[in-house]
Amino acid sequence: MADGKLLTFVKGLTVLLEQHASEEVIFTQGKKLLENLISVDDWLPNEFAQPHPQYYQQYLLYADPFDRFSILSFVWGPGQKTPVHNHTVWGMIGQLRGQEKGTLYYQQADGSYKPGSPTICSPGHVDTVSPNTHDIHEVANNHQDQTSISIHVYGGNMVKVERAVFDPITGSEKVFISGYANRLVPNLWSQSQ
Ligand code: FE
Repeated sequence: MADGKLLTFVKGLTVLLEQHASEEVIFTQGKKLLENLISVDDWLPNEFAQPHPQYYQQYLLYADPFDRFSILSFVWGPGQKTPVHNHTVWGMIGQLRGQEKGTLYYQQADGSYKPGSPTICSPGHVDTVSPNTHDIHEVANNHQDQTSISIHVYGGNMVKVERAVFDPITGSEKVFISGYANRLVPNLWSQSQ
C-alpha cells in the first residue's frame, strides 16, 4: 500500500533534515514537499479542521522526536487573526483551504513596528518565515464568512520554543509558548491521510 500524504511529507522532510539541510535547501526542496502535501485538499481529518467561535486553533499533526520540526494545522474562523508575533525558527506556511492575509512587520528607529504590504495566500501557495530574514508577522483569515486552513511547518517543536508577541505601537514584547488544541495526533498509517 502506498503511504498517505502526511506520512509521505513526514518521511521526505525527515530525510532532508537528516542530511543537515541548510535553510536555503529547506525553503526550496522542503517547500516543494509542502506544496505537494497541500496541492489537493483531501487528506486533513475533520477533527483537525474545526474552527473555534472566538480563537484561531492550532492542531498538532506531527512532531519530530528530535524536535527538528513540527507540523500543525491552523484553523481560522471568519475574521480571526493573530497578534503580531515572531517564530525564532524557520517556518513554512502552506495554504490548504480558504485564503489568509500575511503581513510582515518591520521595527522602526523609535522601537515601533510598521507593516509591509500584505500577501494574500490562496490554496497551493507556500509562504515562509525566518529569524535570519523575515520573522515578525501577523496572519489573518482573509474571509469574513468562511473558515481558512493552512499547514504550518516549523524548524522546532513549537510547544518548546519561547517566542514573542509585539505591540506594534509601543514595540513592547511579551514572551509566550504555543499550545495545541488537540490531545491526539493523526494516524499516519491511515490510508485516507
Ligand atoms: Fe506566524
